[in-house]
Amino acid sequence: MTAATDSSVRVRLAPSPTGTLHIGTARTAVFNWLFARRHGGRFLLRIEDTDKERSNPEYTANILEGLQWLGLLWDEDPVIQSERIEFHRAAIAQLLASGHAYRCYASEAELTAMREAQAAAKQAPRYDNRHRNLSPEQQQAFIAEGREAVVRFKIDDHATISWHDLVRGEMRWSGGDLGGDMVIARRAPADQIGDPLYNLVVVVDDAAMAISHVIRGEDHIANTAKQLLLYEALGLKQPVFAHTPLILNQEGKKLSKRDGVTSVSDFRNLGYRPEALANYMTLLGWSPPEGMGERFSLEQAAAVFDFDRVNRAGARFDWDKLNWLNGQVLHGLDAESLRDQLAPLWAERGWGTTPGNPSADPLWQRELAALLGPSLTLLADGVDQAQPFFETPELTEAAQAQLAVEGARPALAALTAALEMALSGAPAGSSGLTTDQAQQLLAEACTTAGIKKGVIMKSLRAALLGSLQGPDLMTTWLLLHQLGDDLPRLKRAI
Ligand code: GLU
Repeated sequence: MTAATDSSVRVRLAPSPTGTLHIGTARTAVFNWLFARRHGGRFLLRIEDTDKERSNPEYTANILEGLQWLGLLWDEDPVIQSERIEFHRAAIAQLLASGHAYRCYASEAELTAMREAQAAAKQAPRYDNRHRNLSPEQQQAFIAEGREAVVRFKIDDHATISWHDLVRGEMRWSGGDLGGDMVIARRAPADQIGDPLYNLVVVVDDAAMAISHVIRGEDHIANTAKQLLLYEALGLKQPVFAHTPLILNQEGKKLSKRDGVTSVSDFRNLGYRPEALANYMTLLGWSPPEGMGERFSLEQAAAVFDFDRVNRAGARFDWDKLNWLNGQVLHGLDAESLRDQLAPLWAERGWGTTPGNPSADPLWQRELAALLGPSLTLLADGVDQAQPFFETPELTEAAQAQLAVEGARPALAALTAALEMALSGAPAGSSGLTTDQAQQLLAEACTTAGIKKGVIMKSLRAALLGSLQGPDLMTTWLLLHQLGDDLPRLKRAI
């Protein structure tokens, strides 16, 4: 299926740099990116940094880095919201001039008293529009008192706001449920316009960026109702809206900071691959078409993505599925790429870093990566499982018990002797031991010691890895042999 190219499709991610890139924001980015790619449109970024106290350039860097890491590249230079404040003020001035907005001089104390009275009367808190129709004389009196003012946008209690949401279908809100006339500029001296606020600036910026579709979390639905009124009052073209389901934790509650791992950098530090995380986030709320399976790239998803397959219900976070996907991605890497991923983590432990030592040889490391690859879920597993190859392991209790089995030590002794014999006959400088030779040595040792092959295999594993679990035994042995570590470990076991 190929989608018609519609270059008028322009979507955006509008993160506030008040924290690191949250998984919810990243999932919103995924849906925006997929929709843009599906329609040959553009995926844009706007950094909503107008909250000066809470915004931090370090968070902006973290957000951009996280998106890049996930492969969610944006198509134009990011728009920095704080640089556009004059446009926001101009829109507020326009609304004041057209009578859609007015100055409200109510003090904090008066507003608090109003809300307390509402609470006492068991009413929902709302602004009672008390300064909507002040006479010029009343206004002058407030100004003469030295009062400052916020700017409020009029919301008609009887208005019905409706739109067709790409995820949720027909949506309808009553103006009476929006909390009264809305503040669009913070308190400032009455001849000025204070700092513009979220709903106003989003509308002004989305219109300026010619955003065609606003795709964001369903926690913004009430904002959408307010924003649609602002579009109308400002005479701006309204975009199409799509509100995506929230991400829920295991208990079915909205995923929050309290759930621990929630930022993209956390997942990255835990060893998740960007392809796996992006794949997983796509599945958080979107069902791929029949036959597609659950493992796919962003490009593959983009070829078929649409909002008909986005669910309305919240999406529960499923660690098992994420782990499974990460394993799939790791298993799909060739040995060379896997080595490239693992080597720096090994080096952090000081493993494979001594020049001239065979464990520093990229070819040896590649074989080790190939050996461990199939059992990895996280990259970090490739560190844990590599440890006995770089450091002589202690023997676990199970390994000690195995070596105490009757015939085990004599069999290992026979194997050691046969190995030493074979080595003394090998050409100088050759460290090669082939699988065939190794198999043959094992068979000889079995015969000599008169024990079953199973016993010697288990005992060999115990001797080499210090435990009864681990990857393919023959390859393990050959790799340790190349380091010259097999004989010492065998001797220790005997
Ligand atoms: N800065 C807002 C947020 O991070 C943007 C919401 C929107 O997409 O309009 O929630």
